[in-house]
Amino acid sequence: MLTINEIFYSIQGESTFTGRPCVFVRLTACDLRCAWCDTPYAFTEGRKMSIDEVVTAVQGYDCPLVELTGGEPLLQPGVYALMDRLLSLGRTVVVETGGHISLERVPAAVIKVMDVKCPGSGESARNDWDNLARLGPLDEVKFVVKDRADYEYAREVIVRHDLASRVGAVLISPVHGVLELRPLAEWMLADHLSARLQVQLHKYIWGAEVRGV
Ligand code: SF4
Repeated sequence: MLTINEIFYSIQGESTFTGRPCVFVRLTACDLRCAWCDTPYAFTEGRKMSIDEVVTAVQGYDCPLVELTGGEPLLQPGVYALMDRLLSLGRTVVVETGGHISLERVPAAVIKVMDVKCPGSGESARNDWDNLARLGPLDEVKFVVKDRADYEYAREVIVRHDLASRVGAVLISPVHGVLELRPLAEWMLADHLSARLQVQLHKYIWGAEVRGV
């Protein structure tokens, strides 16, 4: 059984899959409390569903792309069986994770979009640095930055770990409504940073406060 906060069909708003129709499975619970978290309703709200029920709901949308998100989706052991089932059905499976839980059990065919938490989140001490070695050329690393200090932290990690040559994409996203895109873009250009500036596209389409999109 899994505890599921919501399952919905929308336009992917983040990662290199941005803009593509996608089914989202949001799993309940998170053991982090990022200062800028935009899904706190997923900390506790949810209902029990069997893996069969989740798969049936996903199949109802007739969409090849599925994202497992949260909350923190890797907190529930049943998520690995769900990944296997979705892969066996030919779905492209993406998992969005906070980066503090080992990726060891995630099947290689699942595309991992892993956060590295910056100091402004209040959770940077939880980063599991060993996870960087568990990422492959199809996986992505995401930094959510709220100010210049966060940007400099991200830049240092990107350079020190040579992330741009080790993973499929390095994403830098401003905290929506806190850091403007323009200064972040200018910092990246000034540094010739090997990273991709991203917005949370769904917030521009549907509004920042709308759930289930
Ligand atoms: S890891 Fe994600 S769900 Fe958990 S507190 Fe941070 S932003 Fe929110």
